[in-house]
Amino acid sequence: MTMSKISSNTEFPLFSDLPLIEPIQSALRSKGYTIPTPIQAGAIPPLLEGRDFLGCAQTGTGKTAAFAIPILQLLHQSPAKAVSGAPRALVLCPTRELAVQILESFTNYGKSLRLRFAAVFGGVGQSPQVTSLTRGLHVLVATPGRLQDLMDQGHCSLSRLEFFVLDEADRMLDMGFMPAIKRIVAKLPKQRQSIFLSATMPPPIEELAGSLLRDHVTVMITPPATTAQKVAQRVMFVDKDNKRKLLESLLESNAFSKVLVFVRTKYGADRLAKSLKSSTMMIDAIHGDKSQGARQRVLNGFKDGALRVLVATDVAARGIDVEGITHVINYDMPLEPDGYVHRIGRTARAGATGESISMCDAEEFQQLRQIEREIGKRVPVDRNHPYHSADAEEEVIKRDASSGRKKTSRGRPTSGPRAAASGGAKSGGPAGRARKGFKGSKSSTTSYASGAAAAGGEAAPGRRRSISGKVKKINNSTSKPQYGYSAERKPDGTSSSGSSRGPSSGPKRKKR
Ligand code: AMP
Repeated sequence: MTMSKISSNTEFPLFSDLPLIEPIQSALRSKGYTIPTPIQAGAIPPLLEGRDFLGCAQTGTGKTAAFAIPILQLLHQSPAKAVSGAPRALVLCPTRELAVQILESFTNYGKSLRLRFAAVFGGVGQSPQVTSLTRGLHVLVATPGRLQDLMDQGHCSLSRLEFFVLDEADRMLDMGFMPAIKRIVAKLPKQRQSIFLSATMPPPIEELAGSLLRDHVTVMITPPATTAQKVAQRVMFVDKDNKRKLLESLLESNAFSKVLVFVRTKYGADRLAKSLKSSTMMIDAIHGDKSQGARQRVLNGFKDGALRVLVATDVAARGIDVEGITHVINYDMPLEPDGYVHRIGRTARAGATGESISMCDAEEFQQLRQIEREIGKRVPVDRNHPYHSADAEEEVIKRDASSGRKKTSRGRPTSGPRAAASGGAKSGGPAGRARKGFKGSKSSTTSYASGAAAAGGEAAPGRRRSISGKVKKINNSTSKPQYGYSAERKPDGTSSSGSSRGPSSGPKRKKR
């Protein structure tokens, strides 16, 4: 077994080191994936052994494959005919876009397996979805509202469910899905394997995880601060009325070839896209009021390059996985610091570099400071643009002084992306919420302070990614971990398993 050392205290396997069956290995090879991301390395082995799993990770970490691959393998290894309306695995996620992406992942990784997949989500007619349920399926990806409707109408039953995945649980909470989730959870069979993923762990999410998981393994990945470090960030002070002109002037540069612009409201998204259309033809908006078909068309246009600029609201952008975004522009500053990290995480994916520009007017001072606290560093100021607002910056300095905060080192003007990239991050910056451990009983926890590895797929094939941070191994030198899965022992003596069995031996599933 190959096992390379990545840093003095971290070892990570290749996919070929993991006990994965050949059809999955081959699907991974055809995608060009050789190295599991940290969440994949942490999740796949225990999931193959039937353990419940809690992953603190956000989009871009490779979390979808982390649960899709083991579920596919376990389903394949205990074959059963697809039954009408009764899936064996259910993945609940917050948005239609994410549902489509998760379905795509299952289809890609499981393309050579004799398994059937379907997705159901709102905003589109239900009859094609009813048809695919009725035809029989193994894996169902669903948004909570539509699933509940279909269950209420008798089109879907969870009685045969063996695997339950709750993806982006914190976003579900934000979007008001908690009552629907609780009703669905009440219908789950007691004997099942549960997988719970969330970027942050606020108390209601922690409570929900506690009620769903048993004897679970925890892996925490990518504190938001770390993701943000990969993106060259700058802030431009500008008066509200000049934001559109500033955006136009930025878009004059050819370097801005695939640009995601965030605005706060659906109305604002449409208005901005419309007003820019005259100057930049390849622009459109995506938000929750558009039909599913229209959203998918816009998204496809942005993916394949027909659109150069996409104006989006936070909810609509959730789960967007588009390669090659060169710039993320915060036209309106996000209201929550978490939102900032999610937004800028849309660029600098898959090994690419990326830039973010935040347009901050005098009223957005608080948001800027909260963001800086979250990411653990000051966002460098770029004054080298025609709409720099000395008034807005003055306001920030005044408010800083009046709030008695330590004076910042904003004195040195920066210009352009290079200067922006130089802002160093404090190691171990805030990001407390994402890092906070889940206090479930009988669990084991692995934390990866993963920087370069934050966005799944950023490492060039064949090159080991660099993982900073401390990963304790259970196995000592005489009993070397066979595929690099390591975990911390909790004080109660429980731990995640680091043992491995070859793919031929099949899964040894937990009995309940
Ligand atoms: P996710 O966090 O699941 O949204 O995945 C983020 C992106 O990383 C997707 O485009 C995946 O296809 C890609 N990806 C996932 N796992 C890997 C891997 N091991 N190597 C390279 N890219 C990956």
